[in-house]
Amino acid sequence: MAKETHEFQAETKKLLDLMVHSIYTNHEIFLRELISNASDAIDKVHFASLTNREILEGDENYEIYIVPDKESHTLTISDNGIGMSRQEVIDDIGTIAKSGTKAFLEKLKEAKESDSDITDKDMIGQFGVGFYSAFMVAEKAVIKTRKAGEKEATRWESDGSGSFTVEECEKESRGTMITLYLAKEFYGDGAEENFLDEYHIQSLVKKYSDYVRYPIKMNFETEEIPRDEDGKPIKDAKPEKKIELRTLNSMKPLWTRDKKDITKEEYSEFYKNQFHEWEEPMDVFHIKAEGTVEYTALMYIPGKAPFNLYHADFEPGLQLFSRHVFIMDKCKDLLPEYLRFVKGLVDSPDLSLNISRELLQQSRELKVIGKNLANTILKKLAKLLETDREGYEKFWAEFGKSLKIGIYGTIYTGGDAKEKLKDLILFYSSKEKKLVTLKEYKERMPESQKKIYFATGKDTNVIDEIPQMEALKSRGFEVLYFTDPVDEFTVEALHEYDGKEFQSVSKGDLGLDDAESEQEKKDTEKAEKESGDLLKDIKEALGDKVAEVKISSRLKSSAVCLVADQYGPSLSMEQNLSDMDNPMFKAKRILEINPNHELFKKLTTLHEAGKDDAGFKDYCDLLYTQALLIEGILPDDPVAFANKLAKLMAK
Ligand code: ADP
Repeated sequence: MAKETHEFQAETKKLLDLMVHSIYTNHEIFLRELISNASDAIDKVHFASLTNREILEGDENYEIYIVPDKESHTLTISDNGIGMSRQEVIDDIGTIAKSGTKAFLEKLKEAKESDSDITDKDMIGQFGVGFYSAFMVAEKAVIKTRKAGEKEATRWESDGSGSFTVEECEKESRGTMITLYLAKEFYGDGAEENFLDEYHIQSLVKKYSDYVRYPIKMNFETEEIPRDEDGKPIKDAKPEKKIELRTLNSMKPLWTRDKKDITKEEYSEFYKNQFHEWEEPMDVFHIKAEGTVEYTALMYIPGKAPFNLYHADFEPGLQLFSRHVFIMDKCKDLLPEYLRFVKGLVDSPDLSLNISRELLQQSRELKVIGKNLANTILKKLAKLLETDREGYEKFWAEFGKSLKIGIYGTIYTGGDAKEKLKDLILFYSSKEKKLVTLKEYKERMPESQKKIYFATGKDTNVIDEIPQMEALKSRGFEVLYFTDPVDEFTVEALHEYDGKEFQSVSKGDLGLDDAESEQEKKDTEKAEKESGDLLKDIKEALGDKVAEVKISSRLKSSAVCLVADQYGPSLSMEQNLSDMDNPMFKAKRILEINPNHELFKKLTTLHEAGKDDAGFKDYCDLLYTQALLIEGILPDDPVAFANKLAKLMAK
């Protein structure tokens, strides 16, 4: 096929532009990126060879080569991995297919538009941009690649600006060879950083890629004094130049080493390398087990939750190895859904290399390992919560939602997640304006408090202001603030904690059966009697906007509030589910009126003038709209509302 020129996709162009105008301060990470791509490609060919040996074409010595060429100022990285077909080169190298990269660009745009102080560098730290990082150091890159098992090889070339070319070429060995034409700053004496210096390259490989499973080799030019037959250096002889092929990485898998010999930096470097991560991990668990099933696991809690953690395109799962040989990348069935954020790997001699992924995922050994790992992680989290509250809260901020969703999920799946997670969840609370556990909440409940109260809203300030809080505040009862849409679902699934039911402050009967509430009940009944037909007529004026109109016992200083029926969703939950047009998700609205408020008296007066009077009807409507606004819900007809209000103000 002839040479073709392709334009980069618009997003790719943007990314390349960022790369060239270097957003990273450490350019050197390009090498790690290219090496890990090479290593992945070898993994792939190895995996394919398990079912089709022929694909290796007799070349079974997996390796990665680095060639610095001081004459042409090029640095070449080659592998004998799976390689790419012409179409794959166009698709994988020319476009940004990865959702992570797309998400990155979107976030970057958002950050720019909102004028926030987030810099490109902060942003990019959260994403890997792989191959494109080559353009931080290269003026031009050439890829020559031949897919394993295919004849045609492809040459790709680009200067990283607008376009790239692809054409057919000759390539004997399978795999990919990437040649970078280094920019002036990156070679030779006086360079900012010399990427053609063997010792510099060696140190970078040691630093970033020491655990890569395949040998990374490079020729070193050395000088040696010639020796005589006895091996003694010959006096006054001229040193001879020698070329020596060295393997730069130790390849010893980190997880096989003794825990006590591994430094924090080593764990961290391995994490970034192995899982293409950029941030420091938050925590690491290194576990060796010898029981019915033998295994070693190395698991990490990432430093930050990925943007797509809760989207369908996020692929959770641990890597699987058997006797240090890679088997598969994202084994999903090992850990429960609610631990989907955990990154890591498991190496077990009890896993078979040669069975299909489907069978492997169902194997008994894997189930045992998975269960043990999940328990270990939960135990460690419980320990963290106990011993390092600040650390736990940091974890909670990133991944708490996963645990809450885990509890909610039991509604559909059953299982024991509820029991396991209920003591690990935190909610912000009214008492100290801090996060609390349910245990802490329960322990400090006053004798007279029967239920665990929560209030739902957009943020804690909004919740603080909602009228339904008043009755609880006046009693000094602690209220949990639910600001995450999933919170209500979570306690719905829990139903109770240690014998205490959860109660929304905006729903049904608050269950306050103390002396004060006895009095309140009496007052309410009295007010109800005295109001005659008033409540019925308000309900009539509002039609089916509300299911019921009641005298409130929960309001102290506010005039009205809307509450939902005890059974069924709350108003906030209804708003969260508003895109789902399902009657199941519609809250039954109850308008509660404070009989001690001035407004109530005014309403009574208006009512006496006649329930069909326009003044009374407008008043009812305004009252209802007010209650809606307090809940953060806009009226269906804002113009009518504004007009009525204006009319009233002009009176
Ligand atoms: P990432 O590696 O994060 O997916 P890259 O931009 O580094 O993103 O690479 C894009 C894709 O190009 C890879 O997913 C892979 O399919 C392909 N690729 C890159 N380098 C190689 C290589 N050395 N051998 C085979 N395929 C490669």
